[in-house]
Amino acid sequence: MTFQDLNLNTPLYNALDDLGFSSPTPIQEHAFNVVASGRDVIGIAQTGTGKTFAYMLPILKNLKFSKQENPRVLVLVPTRELVVQVVEEIEKLSKYINNRVLGVYGGTNINTQKQAVAQGLDILVATPGRLYDLAMSRVLQLKSIQKLVIDEVDIMLDLGFRHQLINIFDILPERRQSIMFSATMTQDVDLLIYDFFKNPERVSIAVSGTPLDNIKQNRYNVPNFYTKVNLLTALLQDEERFNKVLIFVAYKRMADRLFEQLDILFKEELCVIHSNKTQNYRLRSIEQFKEGHNRILIATDVMARGLDIDNVSHVINFDTPEYPENYMHRIGRTGRAERKGEALVFSTEKEQESITNIEHLMKMDIPVLELPDHIEISTELIEEERPQIKEHNNPTKRRDIDAPGPAFHEKIAKNKKENLGGSYKFKMAAKYKKPKTRGDKNYNKRNKKK
Ligand code: AMP
Repeated sequence: MTFQDLNLNTPLYNALDDLGFSSPTPIQEHAFNVVASGRDVIGIAQTGTGKTFAYMLPILKNLKFSKQENPRVLVLVPTRELVVQVVEEIEKLSKYINNRVLGVYGGTNINTQKQAVAQGLDILVATPGRLYDLAMSRVLQLKSIQKLVIDEVDIMLDLGFRHQLINIFDILPERRQSIMFSATMTQDVDLLIYDFFKNPERVSIAVSGTPLDNIKQNRYNVPNFYTKVNLLTALLQDEERFNKVLIFVAYKRMADRLFEQLDILFKEELCVIHSNKTQNYRLRSIEQFKEGHNRILIATDVMARGLDIDNVSHVINFDTPEYPENYMHRIGRTGRAERKGEALVFSTEKEQESITNIEHLMKMDIPVLELPDHIEISTELIEEERPQIKEHNNPTKRRDIDAPGPAFHEKIAKNKKENLGGSYKFKMAAKYKKPKTRGDKNYNKRNKKK
């Protein structure tokens, strides 16, 4: 496929020519028509796949020249570095288009940015916090936003920007196209889509479903969290074989919970990274793992992104990723640079469907290994594994244990008084001859004359 097939326009062709780009990348090819259609879009693609142009090409193609001051396109990204990068990319594409692009981010003088906004603009690229502050200051008007792009959503949510995003959704026009790009799908991302996207279309580049030949894959069926801990502990005893182990879990709380369990036996060899840890802690953990001082690293999908660590002997999927793409990303951390690697995945009964999806994507079955006899099967369940208590008539609402119960004392006599409502008022009015209604100044006069 060439860019000609996308039916762009001359200014865009010229810009692409100048850049020396001859054909669209797979995500650009797949996203173009969907984004151009105006529907809400969920794009799954990592940085480096050309995803910025995947949403900007169709947006720029359809953005008409306008003199109006308020921006019509808003791109939200998690970090200031990304603001700068995305602005640069848009400027490269807009070389022959007359449009105004501005990047704003926190940690710098807001007044300078206010002045820049006041000059008028078409496309605004921003971090969520600064965008909200500018909108609240009223210098920035968001009422003309037609397209909202949220880039690197998974990182944004992992960094704790959920509330800022919701606040921003609240002040954006209802009628708009929402487009999001994420490298991994997480529960948080799912929730956001569910709450704020209208019937979105999903585009993802076929994450190569062909795993590298040098990664040996196996799986275990394990009933629950604590039994998984028992199995993992037993495997990790073999220090020679499991000499550099990257363990994946889906979310932070699970990472901490697993860390707590493994810490008992593997204290000196263990580290963990997720977004609630400080940047310093994370860097130190990664360094220690890289250098081989720590043998075991626990990580969430989002935080493990971009990790460039060689010689990982094993990737252990402590849980089974719901999205097969995440599984491919995870196991790709081993077997790098032609070396042999092993990947294991633990699945409960509930996770069997995810295994099926992964096997479907790879078009191969992952051989199942029997749980060794000496592994103790735990019957204890963690919170997420316990059955949820559901109200009889409302299957989706969880019972609120903290809700205030009924009063446990008798009302005091004064509060037991009957509310006499209108008739009491009427009696009093008759007694004191007060105007029946406010403003009826002549009421008393009229009554006296009688
Ligand atoms: P991104 O995934 O958006 O961060 O893009 C990664 C890099 O690929 C950027 O430097 C882009 O300029 C470049 N790029 C984007 N589209 C293409 C293309 N069609 N052909 C070659 N390079 C591209």
